[in-house]
Amino acid sequence: MIPFVASPAFEYGRADAVSPLIRRVIANNPGPFTYTGTGTYIVGRAEAGAAVAVIDPGPADDAHLAALLAAVGGQTVSHVLVTHTHRDHSPLARPFAEAVGAPVFAARPPVVTVHAAGGPDEDDDEAFSPDVVLTGGERLRGDGWRIEAMATPGHASNHMAFVLEDENALFSGDHVMGWSTTVVAPPDGDMAAYMASLDAVIARDFAVIWPTHGAPVTDPGPFLQAYRSHRIAREAQVLSRLAAGDRTISTMVPVLYAAVDPRLWPAASLSVWAHLIALEQAGRVHAAPGPVIGAEWSLA
Ligand SMILES: [Zn+2]
Repeated sequence: MIPFVASPAFEYGRADAVSPLIRRVIANNPGPFTYTGTGTYIVGRAEAGAAVAVIDPGPADDAHLAALLAAVGGQTVSHVLVTHTHRDHSPLARPFAEAVGAPVFAARPPVVTVHAAGGPDEDDDEAFSPDVVLTGGERLRGDGWRIEAMATPGHASNHMAFVLEDENALFSGDHVMGWSTTVVAPPDGDMAAYMASLDAVIARDFAVIWPTHGAPVTDPGPFLQAYRSHRIAREAQVLSRLAAGDRTISTMVPVLYAAVDPRLWPAASLSVWAHLIALEQAGRVHAAPGPVIGAEWSLA
């Protein structure tokens, strides 16, 4: 079982100091993909005159923009960082950056602009364009803080996490979330990439993980192992359905997700598809005519 963590205590729009170098402001956009809303992080000392970085300004929301501008009042914003280009993370980056006169740093703009399913929060922000394109490994130096960009594709192909070196902390975006597993929805979502990114995070032994949605993960070691095991178990279940003779995603999902509300089966189908694509790439599964969602699948 994954030791999920419940929502933190918060008020929408209020800047809460959550560590010596981190403040968080939560946007009023709760939903099935965003939990209690998008958490925007402000990194740096909370003192007048200090220069700070802001991670994931969030959705196009005037109240949240006003709350962020109030939170950094009297300060300089030196960097605006974006984890990925889903609509609950990136659309406010440009208006906020223009208001404070800071450049936007992120991975490349989205390539695939529409998910096969999912809510509007999971759609791509097609207009997004960073000032500085990150590929991972860049080290950003600020006023009393150091951040490393960490490429973490999987949930989105352009997903970037950010390491706060001073606190051995990871801003994980939607790659790791304390309240839920992550949606990995092809074609932009990629399960093999996701698992590799998860292993990369596990290897770094972070002291704390700050997801965009929900509370921090304060004991990442066992949490991440459970998170990883959940995916391995799901993959094994998919293989067992193929061994039992199932050939299509639509026959597997009602069995694999019998305990889950059928309204969630379309999203579950995408997750099963993501596993099957990864298995096909690994040579363990055949797909006819190819690894499309309606394919006939069989063990290799
Ligand atoms: Zn999100």
